[in-house]
Amino acid sequence: MAIEPGNLRPSLHIGGEWSGSSDGGTREIVDPATGSAILVVDEATPDDARRAISVARHVFDDGRWAGTSVAERTAFLTKIADLLQRDKEQLAHIETLDTGKTLAESRIDIDDVTSVFRYYAELAAVHGDRLVDVGRPEVISRVVHEPIGVCVMIAPWNYPLLQISWKIAPALAAGCTMVLKPSEVTPLSTIAFVKLVQEAGVPDGVVNLVQGSGAVLGEALTANPDVDFISFTGGLATGRTILAAAASNVTKVAVELGGKNPHIVFADAVSDPTAFADSVDHVLTGVFLHSGQVCSAGTRLIIEDSVADLFVAALAERARGIRMGSGLDPTSETGPLVSEAQRRKIEKYVALGVEEGAELVVGGSRPDDRELADGSYFLPTIFDRCDRTMKIVQEETFGPILTVERFTTEEEALRLGNDTNYGLAAGVRTSDSARGERLVRGLRHGTVWLNDFGIYTAAAEWGGFKRSGNGRELGPSGLSEYQEAKHIWHNTSPTAAGWFVTR
Ligand code: NAP
Repeated sequence: MAIEPGNLRPSLHIGGEWSGSSDGGTREIVDPATGSAILVVDEATPDDARRAISVARHVFDDGRWAGTSVAERTAFLTKIADLLQRDKEQLAHIETLDTGKTLAESRIDIDDVTSVFRYYAELAAVHGDRLVDVGRPEVISRVVHEPIGVCVMIAPWNYPLLQISWKIAPALAAGCTMVLKPSEVTPLSTIAFVKLVQEAGVPDGVVNLVQGSGAVLGEALTANPDVDFISFTGGLATGRTILAAAASNVTKVAVELGGKNPHIVFADAVSDPTAFADSVDHVLTGVFLHSGQVCSAGTRLIIEDSVADLFVAALAERARGIRMGSGLDPTSETGPLVSEAQRRKIEKYVALGVEEGAELVVGGSRPDDRELADGSYFLPTIFDRCDRTMKIVQEETFGPILTVERFTTEEEALRLGNDTNYGLAAGVRTSDSARGERLVRGLRHGTVWLNDFGIYTAAAEWGGFKRSGNGRELGPSGLSEYQEAKHIWHNTSPTAAGWFVTR
């Protein structure tokens, strides 16, 4: 079926049926590049969310999905990957309309989503059970991995389909059933995706979808005893609320939260003009890609003092040249912020940075280009002379703001890089590989790039240290999150226990 924004209603999917909300509620979805409503989607009520969970519970318990063979589930994952590629252009278009990111980025997102499905199709086939040698030939002791059960998946707006695919693909591979809740701001690609899941023939009730406000649906989704696992990606404050809501049922929760990611540049990394220009390019891309709305954005430049002035000047020059515009315009290098609310938040942080005494080098305002007046655009912004007492250095701004701190010794660089409550990702640029290895081992972040930035792969774990979260997505651990390990002890020659003497 062709996917067009116009046929995304009715937009709730429960037990294989597409329906509207039980109270008729709807929400307008806005294109952040123009500020205009693109279309209306149905908005679930807490009762709809409870119904979706109850269907997922029933379908899990009757074994129609959990009881399928790995080979069957692998075939579904592969089919979904094929359909994603067939509809790549439409899906990318929808993602761009909804988030504002450029089409080039959205296309990469769809390829990445596809690779996640292909990866888990392959991994599921080999991620096997384990025989345990207990030293008794009559005993077969084995650890088997069983699906964890009913999963609730809550996703953010910056990479709507990508983030939720990191959850859906391993959950399907493991044999779980699920209820998806995309961000209220960006539900479109997830609705379109669920149509593909249906087309692939995944049994009804395995993948259910409700969308609407997290504040309204949150409790119904996260404090429900029928849920076995909640996988959440989003901000720290929401993560805390979900952890608290899940505690009464002792529901397992994995939270993938924000980051305040250091990008550490040593003078030895920029000693010739090419290396200098390449490093500037990586720092620029690391922070301003998708207008900084990336959890792993390198928002803290930590740079050796001897090269800082030159480097920041070059960076500012490049930042001024970034071509901003609608994601649908192929000449745009970055798009608007996802919403007006997000732009207001960024404006508050800029005002705070000035108040805190940071030096505004470039940006700091909306563009004055008339063509961009209706969208929620904000200029790439750099603050120099920052220090770690400032809120703009400590807090995740989630927009196009780079702060610059300076260091003189390696120890200081490492200390600054770890001086954050978050621990999602970090980058180091140095030509001294021994120093680089010391740094990558010393940094307390879930992903560390040495002489690169922002790259990830489906086969390697992703997740945060400290307040950046507690779970791991992608890689083998990303599948294990959706499994329970069960130890089975089979005594093939049973005899008496023989502990108590009287029988
Ligand atoms: P958010 O406000 O925390 O929202 C995330 C999701 O949670 C949305 O679907 C939201 O619904 C829902 N939600 C809100 N309140 C809820 C509640 N009480 N109970 C249950 N769900 C609730 O985050 P965001 O602004 O969408 O996304 C940005 C954040 O995500 C940043 O902090 C970013 O760093 C983080 N992120 C982390 C990663 C990672 O891999 N670690 C990746 C991407 C993004 P509504 O949309 O209706 O509010």
